[in-house]
Amino acid sequence: MDKLHEECGVFGVYAPGEDTARITYFALYSLQHRGQESAGIATSDNNQIHLLKGLGLVSQVFDEPGLETLKGDFAIGHVRYSTTGSNHDQNASPMYQECELGPFTIAHNGNLTNTSELKNDLKDSFEFETTTDSEIIAKMITRSEGRTFEQKILSAMEKLEGAYSITLITKDALYAFRDPHGVRPLSLAKLNGGYAVASETCAFGTIGAKRLRDIEPGEIITITKNGVGSHYFPSTKKSFCIFEYIYFARPDSLINKQSVYTVRENLGRYLAQEYPVKADLVIGVPESGIPSAIGYSIESGIPYREGLIKNRYIGRTFINPDQRLRKRGIKLKLNALRSVITGKNVVLVDDSIVRGNTTKKIVGLLKEKGAKEVHVRITCPPMLNPCFLGLDTATEDELIANKMSVEKIRKHVGADSLGYLSLSGLVKSTRLPKEDFCLACFNGEYPFELKDEKGKFVLEKAVL
Ligand code: SF4
Repeated sequence: MDKLHEECGVFGVYAPGEDTARITYFALYSLQHRGQESAGIATSDNNQIHLLKGLGLVSQVFDEPGLETLKGDFAIGHVRYSTTGSNHDQNASPMYQECELGPFTIAHNGNLTNTSELKNDLKDSFEFETTTDSEIIAKMITRSEGRTFEQKILSAMEKLEGAYSITLITKDALYAFRDPHGVRPLSLAKLNGGYAVASETCAFGTIGAKRLRDIEPGEIITITKNGVGSHYFPSTKKSFCIFEYIYFARPDSLINKQSVYTVRENLGRYLAQEYPVKADLVIGVPESGIPSAIGYSIESGIPYREGLIKNRYIGRTFINPDQRLRKRGIKLKLNALRSVITGKNVVLVDDSIVRGNTTKKIVGLLKEKGAKEVHVRITCPPMLNPCFLGLDTATEDELIANKMSVEKIRKHVGADSLGYLSLSGLVKSTRLPKEDFCLACFNGEYPFELKDEKGKFVLEKAVL
């Protein structure tokens, strides 16, 4: 449990005459890395909304007969990691809601930063069934003024603060919208006679859709049988989460027109420039460390080798191990290749150090398998601040960089040297301007005022 946790993945499709539930099902498979605690699909057939959701991986929640019941030309899907609220059945998404314009369901990625304030505002008008901010957004849309769903969404957006990338279906339309800072990704694609929207473009490849563009910060897309329309909520400043490039997004996704894989390779190249070292080989910590290790290798001329093998079939959080078993977790997930690393000086490239336990175990594993020296290189600066915008990071006190200097961390993890990429190296790797990013993990400059008590159980405390 020493890694940042992915937030959520959302998807939406309008495909007349097609099996939209199955399209969504396959798309959710490719977004599974963004959340493994629950999954859900909702479809709409012009009369009714059908919904199926539950705890677990996509493969555990859906089966053939279940998908058959989900009819309609419109569908949305969601995979969830609980960044707000516990991992309970009722907290799974999409969320169903009824308003005077008819029923709708929403799937949300991100975190609001004023949930307590909004819930207080809504509590006299609504009963709450969950402890998620997705339900708050659904109720805000229900209560907002407007003769159309676009108007209601626009009016709700005036009150919502924080990060949200959302897909929503009504009986006869699909909507997709992003908060005005565009913290979480959301893209639009063409699919045969219709359209698809997804947190990441890797989902488009899986279903044969052709990427058109990113949905802009503050943009509301409406998709009906008449085509695509756009409305805008004024966007003041972009604040895209830079961690999507470092760790969360899949390397085959394209965000802000930048390939995530290429950005990760650049991270490794800049690391090699900033922290060169004499070594025999470079290895990456799977998965996100691998393109950066390749970049480090290209820049430094030190050969890249596969030194760590990941067991891909180990579930993440669904079966919660007790503390004793959790300590063994890293060995269940990774093994080191003795034949590659014995007697070698190794550069180990990873995406981040959160609490330090994982890095310490991996360095220990490499030394146990015969590595002579292990030089750790991290593709971002020390993490000093937690995220309140859709990721489950450690608390401020748990972040190792808050408690120790780089030299102390080096000693703690047992590395022979330790280098963190600079903030400027990180930003340069994206080929995008610094102003476009949220960098709060590193510099503490959050794009919004944080009104909520910090923590994912904020709404549960409010209920108690
Ligand atoms: S605080 Fe960090 S993880 Fe959270 S949105 Fe900002 S950059 Fe991303």
